[in-house]
Amino acid sequence: MNIQPFKAKTLVRTSSQTATHVHLNPYQGCYHNCSYCFGKSDEYFMHKDYGERIRVKINAPELLEEYLKKKGFIPYNRDKTSTLVDYISYSNNDIKSSLPPKFVISMFGNVCDVYQPAEKKVEITRKLLQIAYDYGFPVRLLTKSNLVLRDIDLLKKIHQDSYARVAITVTLYDEEMQKIFEPNASLTSERFDTVKRLRENGISSGIYITPVIPFIGDSSENLSQIISKAKEVNAEFIISGGLTLSLGRNKQEFMDSIKTHFPEYLERFKLLYDNNDKYGQPNSKIAESYNLLDPIKKGYELCKRNNMFFYEPRIIPEGQINTNLLIATALYRIAFLQEKIYKSEEINIKEYHKAAKYCELLPQDISSMTNGEIQTLPFSRDITDIISEIVDTNNCQFLSSKNEWKELIATKN
Ligand code: SF4
Repeated sequence: MNIQPFKAKTLVRTSSQTATHVHLNPYQGCYHNCSYCFGKSDEYFMHKDYGERIRVKINAPELLEEYLKKKGFIPYNRDKTSTLVDYISYSNNDIKSSLPPKFVISMFGNVCDVYQPAEKKVEITRKLLQIAYDYGFPVRLLTKSNLVLRDIDLLKKIHQDSYARVAITVTLYDEEMQKIFEPNASLTSERFDTVKRLRENGISSGIYITPVIPFIGDSSENLSQIISKAKEVNAEFIISGGLTLSLGRNKQEFMDSIKTHFPEYLERFKLLYDNNDKYGQPNSKIAESYNLLDPIKKGYELCKRNNMFFYEPRIIPEGQINTNLLIATALYRIAFLQEKIYKSEEINIKEYHKAAKYCELLPQDISSMTNGEIQTLPFSRDITDIISEIVDTNNCQFLSSKNEWKELIATKN
C-alpha cells in the first residue's frame, strides 16, 4: 500500500435532494480493493492503481472546519485539551439555539472506505469525527472494517451529544467467498462483532447487504445467514441492494475476478450486464430468464420474517423542522414500498419523490398550516391527504398497517 497525502481544494459535497446531509470522502482510492467497487467506475475519474495507491486529503479537517465556520457554526463542545484550534469558551446554551439548522455529516464512501488500513496511520477520519463532535453534528458512516472500533470513545460522545450511526457492509456470509471479492477488508465475522460492540456501547448500527452478487450471494441461504446473524448481534436495521457494474474498469475488474474464481458463471454475468446501462443495472429480461431474485424484495421479505426493520431510520439534525422531515420520510417510504415491494402502479412515484423533496426543503413548518393550506400545496389529493393525516394524527395509516411507521425516525436506544 502506498499512502500519498495531498492538499485537496474541496471536501464537503452537498446534495440537491436534501438539506440534511453533507458527504465527505477524505480518501481517494481504497485498499480494501473489492472487485465490484463502484469507485473504480470511469465516472469518478480515479487513478489507475486505485486499490494500491491511497491518496489522503491531508487537509480534510481544516476544510471541514472552514466549511462549518463559514456556515455560522461554532465549536461549542471543544475542550481545552483540543489541539485542533484554540479553545474558546461557549458556556451559554442560548448560543445553540441561535445557530442555523444542522445536517448529518455522512461518510458513506463512494471512492473510499473511511476506515481502510491507511486510516490506522493517518487518522483523518478520527479528526473529522472530532470536529463533528466539537461542533455538535450527528454523523453517519459506512465501512467494512473493524478499525471503526478504535473510535468508539468519540462515537459514544457524538451519540450522547447528537447522533452517531455506523452501518457495516456484509455481502457474503462464507468468509472464503468474501475474501475473493473483498480481499483486504475485515472478515465477515469481524464485521458482525463490530456491530455487536457498537450496539453494546449504545451506538446506532445496522447492516448493508450491498451488493447482493447474482448467482453467488443471492441464495436464500446466504441472505438468511446474514440476517439471522444481524439479529443476533442486535443490528438495528438491514438494507439490501443489487450489483451495478458500470462500463470500464468497474465492470472489467469484476469480470476478471469471475473469470478467475467462478469461470462457470462468466457467460451468465456477461449476458446479464451486456446492456451497457448508464447506471450499471443488469438486464432485467436476462435476470428474469435466470430466475434471479430481486435483491431488495428478497431482503425485505426475509427481514419481515425475522422481525427486522428494512430501513435506516432518518436522523433529524438539530434545528431542522421535525414535521417536514417526518412527512418527507413517510412519502419516500410509501413510494419505496409501492415501487420496489408491491410493484404497484397505483401511485405516481415521481410525484411522491418530488413532494417529499419539496416538504424537506420547505422553510415553513407544515404543522403550523391549516388543513386548507395543506390542500393548496402543489401535489395531488392523495399526497395532501397523507400530509394532513400526519399533521392531525401523528400517524400514517398506510405505513402503520405495514408496521413501518414508528421506526421511520431515529430515536436513541
Ligand atoms: S470498501 Fe467500498 S470503497 Fe473500498 S474498495 Fe470496497 S467497495 Fe470500494
